[in-house]
Amino acid sequence: MKIHEYQAKDVFAKFGIPVPPGKIAFTPDEVEDVARELEGKVVVKAQVHVGGRGKAGGIKLADDPKDARAKAEQIIGMDIKGLTVEKVLVTKAIDIRDEYYLGITLDRDARMLVLILSAAGGIDIEEVARETPEKIAKVHIDPLIGIQDYQITQAIFGSGVDTTKSREIRSIVRKLYNCYLEIDGSLAEINPLVVTTDGEVIALDAKINIDDNALFRQPDLEKLMEVGADMDAIEAEARHKGIAYVHLSDGNVGVMGNGAGLVMTTMDVVSRAGGKPNNFLDIGGAATAEVVEDAFHLILLDPNVNGIFLNVFGGIVRCDVVAEGMIKAYQKLPRKVPVVLRMTGTNENIARKMLEDTPLVYESTTEAGAAKIVEMLGGQS
Ligand code: GDP
Ligand code: MN
Repeated sequence: MKIHEYQAKDVFAKFGIPVPPGKIAFTPDEVEDVARELEGKVVVKAQVHVGGRGKAGGIKLADDPKDARAKAEQIIGMDIKGLTVEKVLVTKAIDIRDEYYLGITLDRDARMLVLILSAAGGIDIEEVARETPEKIAKVHIDPLIGIQDYQITQAIFGSGVDTTKSREIRSIVRKLYNCYLEIDGSLAEINPLVVTTDGEVIALDAKINIDDNALFRQPDLEKLMEVGADMDAIEAEARHKGIAYVHLSDGNVGVMGNGAGLVMTTMDVVSRAGGKPNNFLDIGGAATAEVVEDAFHLILLDPNVNGIFLNVFGGIVRCDVVAEGMIKAYQKLPRKVPVVLRMTGTNENIARKMLEDTPLVYESTTEAGAAKIVEMLGGQS
């Protein structure tokens, strides 16, 4: 999950990382007020979940409160990479001497965290990595041992930053590392980390991504979630309902089953049969009428879905109980699309009988079920 710069700066401030004073504003009026409070020059910064706002014209310097209002009028409502700007951060303008890059993220291949520091900040770090990789210092950190002083020294001396600022930079690196761990981050980034003309070191920009799988223990951060560019609307609804769902969006076959492995296999088999799975949905162990009903609703939120394949293994749950749930849930289906049900396990025969006089089509194997739903949807997609 991504959070906005102004939110990330609040988080940084809590961990003692210096950030310029500022406030969020939603209208040009509010921007003018904040600029008056801050005094002097300010920066008006679009708050959208994408990088490169500066280049896109979403970050503007203003000389005084009236100018800040004018800049806000240009920025609020503008479109940046497909996102509409609804709010801006107004911060005190900083006189910059140097712009650095500082980031901490996960290196999955190395199975370690990685600290990245570069004197070539302010610009896209991917671009620096491509064109002048020697300007980037990367140090791997074993999360079980934690960050060591010598590693920070390595990064500082390998990155080309002003070493007379190493005390300040070292302190910020430590704080950023603590922050990253504490918030269950997948990325904590300061680009640019600047040295001001007065010699202060301060985070001018702030970017934090949080590991979605840890959100359950980050309730304060979870509240900041916004459905938008990086959060699929149906996935957001699924999260709200506590259903394990992944949206693939361009498929025509809704898929659900009990157990992640079974659902993934079902998706593969649907593909092999010539269909296109629209989603992953695991209804889990308790396949009650209520859960199945919620799952049907969720899957049908995508208008591309015109059929559903349900694959249930009746081990712990009994097939007849599941069948009863399915029949009830089908009656409440918001759109009556073809539904194929493959069930095997305890009381399979009773379940099959129960389904006989219903619109639900029963098949006994995954392959046959996948072929059936594809056939019902008019063959290969
Ligand atoms: P991004 O483009 O989305 O990464 O937004 P940033 O917050 O990193 O801002 C982009 C650039 O705007 C920075 O690299 C700076 O060059 C410039 N900028 C941002 N804030 C200030 C400021 O307070 N003073 C000055 N002089 N430049 C700033
Ligand atoms: Mn930036």
